Amino acid sequence: MPDFQPQRHATVAVRVGHVVVGGGAPVVVQSMTNTDTAEVAATVAQVRELAEAGSELVRITVNTAEAAAAVPRIREALDAAGCDVPLVGDFHFNGHRLLAAEPACAQALAKYRINPGNVGKGKKKDEQFARMIETACEYARPVRIGVNWGSLDQALLARMMDENARQPEPKTPTELMHAAVVASALESAARAEELGLPHDRIILSCKMSGVQDLIAVYRDLASRCDWPLHLGLTEAGMGDKGVVASTAALAVLLQEGIGDTIRISLTPEPGGDRTREVRVAQEILQSMGLRAFTPNVVSCPGCGRTSSTYFQELARDIQAFLREQMPVWRRQYPGVESLSVAVMGCVVNGPGESKHADIGISLPGTGEVPVAPVYEDGEKTVTLKGERIAEEFQTLVTAYVQRRFGAGGDGGS
Ligand code: SF4
Repeated sequence: MPDFQPQRHATVAVRVGHVVVGGGAPVVVQSMTNTDTAEVAATVAQVRELAEAGSELVRITVNTAEAAAAVPRIREALDAAGCDVPLVGDFHFNGHRLLAAEPACAQALAKYRINPGNVGKGKKKDEQFARMIETACEYARPVRIGVNWGSLDQALLARMMDENARQPEPKTPTELMHAAVVASALESAARAEELGLPHDRIILSCKMSGVQDLIAVYRDLASRCDWPLHLGLTEAGMGDKGVVASTAALAVLLQEGIGDTIRISLTPEPGGDRTREVRVAQEILQSMGLRAFTPNVVSCPGCGRTSSTYFQELARDIQAFLREQMPVWRRQYPGVESLSVAVMGCVVNGPGESKHADIGISLPGTGEVPVAPVYEDGEKTVTLKGERIAEEFQTLVTAYVQRRFGAGGDGGS
């Protein structure tokens, strides 16, 4: 791992099941299902997929009596399958009723997410918020006070607008929105503590859908509290746009030590793979050198010197191969996530980059002799040629991993 590790702002550590968030712990990756929670089998299957992909917490929506009743059954099925990922319950509007009606749901969840903008209106808001906090106290569960600018507490916003109008130098509408989002989180957290929730059972989030808005709001929030922050760009969007927007926002904040758990809110393509949000979260943390999850594949972009798409296919296949192996390798070969593999397109940078990786291959470019030298620990070990270069290189990578990270290997040194 690189030496650079930014000082994290959150000094409070919150336990969510067996996972620690904040207090200097590594930034936690989390995700959320999109199944109907009442459908136990489908939800269990998706939670397992997300956990297997590397999600360290998984959030499920708890929106109906049927969903609340399903939660303990989901937990049991996960435990029976050996999946111990903590489940987080996402509550809006009726969480107070659902938690009271289903004690087994309250017990099965490792954390409750409460949106202060969606707890209730008028007098009922305070009462319903209090009931949820009391349940969290009773079951000794942490709470995320999760503000979302799309469902901001309208009473609080109206109050702040009135106050703002009386100021000699009123805030702009954008500044006021930012201030209101932060105030909603901090005031709700203060109220939760008054109701008896311990300081170290609170996580905050203030999700915005604009990159600059998110950065401004989290900088302010981080400067005003010591709680761990759940970080994510809400409604990030689909495909490249969602990935890039999330990365742009989160990278700035993570670099400043802000953010203790992250979720990438990608809209999946129809029929798309929900685990993509987990992979993107891991890639952000790994690219920044904050955590290592899977071996790093260095590959050049290719250019006019690459002779065919063969090089692109090999880079793609080796990346997929390493990801597929990781669930087993992680257990069998401690430290394997620090492995670096180079797949290069020609002799210009191929040998150099390959020598810097733990294991690397330099494919033949246009006009080069059709052979692919392989380097291990900086030394050329073998030259591959013929039709089966990809398979043979995978075999060499596997052998390298066994030798270096298996029992008796020298691991990450
Ligand atoms: S290593 Fe070769 S193929 Fe790859 S980008 Fe550089 S010159 Fe092009």
